[in-house]
Amino acid sequence: MSIENVNLINLLEHASICVVIHSWDSQIVYVNPAAAKLFKTSLDELQRRHQSIDGWEFIDRQNRRLNPDEYPVNKVISLNVSITDEVIGLVDDTTGEVCWLSVSAYPEKSNGTGFVVVYFTEITKKIADFSFLDIVQSAQDMIIVTEAESVNGPLSPQIIYVNDAICKLTGYSREELIGETPRIFQGSLTDKEATTRIHSALTEKKPVTETLLNYTKKGTPYWVEMSIFPLKNQFGEVTHFASVERDVSAVKFHAEQLNTRNSELKDIRENLEKLVSQRTRDLRNVNVKLEKLAYFDPLTDIPNRRAFEEALDKSTHFAHRHGYSLLIGIADVDHFKKLNDTFGHAFGDDVLVAVAKSMKQFFRQEDGIGRVGGEEFAFCMVLPGSHEAIDILERLRKRVELISSSLPALKGYDVTISIGAYYVSEVNPSETKEMVSIADEALYRAKREGRNRVSLVRQDKTEFNSVS
Ligand code: GH3
Ligand code: MG
Ligand code: MG
Repeated sequence: MSIENVNLINLLEHASICVVIHSWDSQIVYVNPAAAKLFKTSLDELQRRHQSIDGWEFIDRQNRRLNPDEYPVNKVISLNVSITDEVIGLVDDTTGEVCWLSVSAYPEKSNGTGFVVVYFTEITKKIADFSFLDIVQSAQDMIIVTEAESVNGPLSPQIIYVNDAICKLTGYSREELIGETPRIFQGSLTDKEATTRIHSALTEKKPVTETLLNYTKKGTPYWVEMSIFPLKNQFGEVTHFASVERDVSAVKFHAEQLNTRNSELKDIRENLEKLVSQRTRDLRNVNVKLEKLAYFDPLTDIPNRRAFEEALDKSTHFAHRHGYSLLIGIADVDHFKKLNDTFGHAFGDDVLVAVAKSMKQFFRQEDGIGRVGGEEFAFCMVLPGSHEAIDILERLRKRVELISSSLPALKGYDVTISIGAYYVSEVNPSETKEMVSIADEALYRAKREGRNRVSLVRQDKTEFNSVS
């Protein structure tokens, strides 16, 4: 069978390429269905016209309207040349839409008859105002396309496309990267678990997002956040993977700095908390010390005058409320000045401490005592029953007398005290001052009467003791 047997017109009827055949006087003699469809008309309709098609006009790439002598068919006829891939726009008069065609035309002469064959394909999509490839090529994000088959091979998946951003960041040229695998960017510190996750996603042809440490051609590491997704052909088969990647080194750096800062802040906070609790403890101790200073005599470590007055106040109220008696007294060291002069002031201090200590031991917790002057000590005690107050006072006097034997430096010098006291059987809490001054008077009496003795005044004044 030879080629002549093929019905070529039949071929044109089924071809997807548009074909229009003109006679040499430019009249349309044939339009195949693909061309008729494009012009939205029919062969009959077209044959009734000469060479132009109603409702359409032709423009060039500069949107300039073509004159009839510029139509491909007329150029072929007038110049007897072929035209190849001339881009012509077909403007729909009613909608203004442009359909772009790649037009070729050539003269066909057989048996003395001349024809012009014009064939064209629509390229509107191809010459859109912009190319998506340009966007991808110039995008700031890095874009890599690899083949999808055999992701396990040593040189696979193969890179078939990289955009400018990749080359700019990594320092590799496009030629160096095409045919390589994206593993070229990985290095010693690249997270193996992340690359394994990517690998299994690729094997399953699934999208995956990871943040990975990559390296430039010079070995400088950078953090990259990548989103890899499969690309399918028109039959739905995954043929490639595209990876859109972003350099997140700065973000990562800041995040790490933030983490460091946060942990520093945490340390600072913990240290501050420690400091605050230490300060609180210190403050509590200082408060205890201050309280002690305010209520205790620093030399003898027994309550001071102020503390004694408070204790006396409490005792009077207590005695008054319960109908008890109160014994209030003042003990004064005899000839203390002389003692100071003889043994020195420091030794005098020791004696005062010893007197205070023996008083502290003598009285009970609920009694009140205090150092109310240089060598003067006051005391008060609530006496619920009938007590021989004079006995108590005498015992105290004797008790203090004992300290002489505990201080050998005294060399026979006796430390004695005189005590003036007031026994109140009906206590009036508002009369503490009066009570103290009565005890004071009694003390003077004891001094006057020779010292080292007790002078007791009773409230009814019916009884008065003075013993030594
Ligand atoms: P009297 O028997 O009349 O009480 O005679 P006195 O010497 O004890 O009394 P006076 O009031 O004449 O002297 C008290 C002395 O106590 C005078 C003072 O220097 C001394 N004195 C006061 N406070 C302290 C002190 O804290 N330590 C020492 N060592 N002596 C003190
Ligand atoms: Mg005195
Ligand atoms: Mg004295």
